[in-house]
Amino acid sequence: MNKNDMIQTTIDDMTNEGEGIGHVDGFTLFVKDALPGDIVEARITRPKKTYAYARTERILVPSDDRCGAPCINARRCGGCRLQEMTYGAQLAFKEKKVRDALTRIGGFDGESLPLQHVIGMETPFRYRNKAQYPIGNDARSKSPSPVAGFYAGRTHSIIPVSDCLLAPEEYADILDRFLKWMNKYKIPAYDETTGKGLVRHLLIRKGFSSGQILVCPVVTREKVPHMQELLDLLHCSEQAGSPACSEQINISGAIAGIRSVCLNVNSRRGNVIMGDKTIPLYGDPWIEDQLMGLTFRISPRSFYQVNPAQTEVLYTRALEAAALTGSEVVYDLYCGIGTISLCLAKEARQVYGVEIVPDAVRDARQNAERNGISNAHFYAGAAEEVVPRGYFEENVPCPKADVVVVDPPRKGCAESLLTTILQMNPSRIVYVSCDPATLARDLKYLCAGGTYRLDCVQPVDLFPQTTHVENVARLSRN
Ligand code: SAH
Repeated sequence: MNKNDMIQTTIDDMTNEGEGIGHVDGFTLFVKDALPGDIVEARITRPKKTYAYARTERILVPSDDRCGAPCINARRCGGCRLQEMTYGAQLAFKEKKVRDALTRIGGFDGESLPLQHVIGMETPFRYRNKAQYPIGNDARSKSPSPVAGFYAGRTHSIIPVSDCLLAPEEYADILDRFLKWMNKYKIPAYDETTGKGLVRHLLIRKGFSSGQILVCPVVTREKVPHMQELLDLLHCSEQAGSPACSEQINISGAIAGIRSVCLNVNSRRGNVIMGDKTIPLYGDPWIEDQLMGLTFRISPRSFYQVNPAQTEVLYTRALEAAALTGSEVVYDLYCGIGTISLCLAKEARQVYGVEIVPDAVRDARQNAERNGISNAHFYAGAAEEVVPRGYFEENVPCPKADVVVVDPPRKGCAESLLTTILQMNPSRIVYVSCDPATLARDLKYLCAGGTYRLDCVQPVDLFPQTTHVENVARLSRN
């Protein structure tokens, strides 16, 4: 098979990343923009010895799972890999992805697998409370013209997007005002290839319960000109706005809910979005939101689940899995701003949270106080370093664990932490995971000694339209 060859194939499966899988003459084809059940005409883009990558050129017979993507950028953007699939088919895909990981990577028996059906959303759009728009110069324009959107493929050029259908509607308006401000005052966008320029990203966060919005441009240096004009444009100036500026740029109407505007300074090269320094410009450098009946402070650099409606479903399942009676000592590792910890604390004797980002630990302590919770304590550091030391405070050994909850990022837990958890010997381990593959790997490790058995895995769809899926797994001591 050669590059640019056209082939016709029936798609019979899908990869974990959402590419269609087809077969032609003993070749396996990974076909972009094709769904199981489609018959497509595809162009070979990268031929290999026994397999090839291809791109759909024409759908000859559409799959029953196919629906029109509501977003015109769905294909090019790549954020919503499943947008052309009906939501029912998306959920089935995710359930299979979890099953495959647990059986193939985790080595669990498919027959007796305690896997529940995935819990989906009623309305699977506009669910994200956080957006991070890369800012760059429009490659199609001769003079520098700032754009916000997404990176095209694996390139540094940005395809403009005005409205992302996963984000709240008012984000488009905020983005529009921000770009108009950059344009008018000739604020240079950051250029990834040269490292020159000023504005790298625009982070927007909203508390869906509180209605509070945080706007945080990520910039390369502290000094940014015309900040007051930006605040005016966002209608959140302390002096009740200087409308002259808004009128000049032809913008009217306020955006309800903007409570916080801050700058985050990131002067380093590379693809890490946020830097260490956050400078408040308007309001406090955080917003608040309510989740599970508790109020949380969220700083720009702290992790906060992006889909609050489904997070409540997830946390409720995690609490059920912890099965607390009020007398337990619980560890919540990778605790972020303490969202799970504080829910647990209401039903436990003592909760110890460990988190690596110092701002998040500060938020967590503040959140405990804000909610009148005194039996939750938070420690900053890597869980795999802090927990094995066994002494969170000097010369005070940690009490014995009844329940350990972990909620690591995609790469899963450090193996040394899993060893420590086994030594802690809790009655139950609750594993919250955003990556089925590392979940399966870690569950296999935790069950290998025969002390623990897997009694439940509950997938929850926190990320509709994307290939990602969240899970809560529970292990009980035999
Ligand atoms: N349980 C929280 C946060 C989960 S996200 C919630 O539901 O909101 C994972 C968190 O782990 C992030 O806050 C991240 O900063 C933190 N983290 C990443 N690596 C870590 C490590 N090695 N030790 C402790 N925390 C870590």
